Amino acid sequence: MTSLWDNAFEKQKAINLDGALQICSRCKLPYPKASKECSHCTHLSDDELEQLRQDFNQRNYKKNVQTRLAMIWGLVIVFILFVIATLIM
Ligand SMILES: [Zn+2]
Repeated sequence: MTSLWDNAFEKQKAINLDGALQICSRCKLPYPKASKECSHCTHLSDDELEQLRQDFNQRNYKKNVQTRLAMIWGLVIVFILFVIATLIM
């Protein structure tokens, strides 16, 4: 299963992989090739990394839900305006 985390960084990977960056095999984040260790996850334990992943996915999930709700509300408002306009004319 591909998580939101992996998807988001899949794109970043494509943008940043011009030779200067490499992708960490552990956290899938890009980091400079010059540095030996990944700056994102070397200081994190497996549990902390998993927590970070979950937080990220949860944040994105919430954002998606909010975007969808905003779109639905927009459609509802347009529909109401349309009904009102039809009634007036
Ligand atoms: Zn890493």
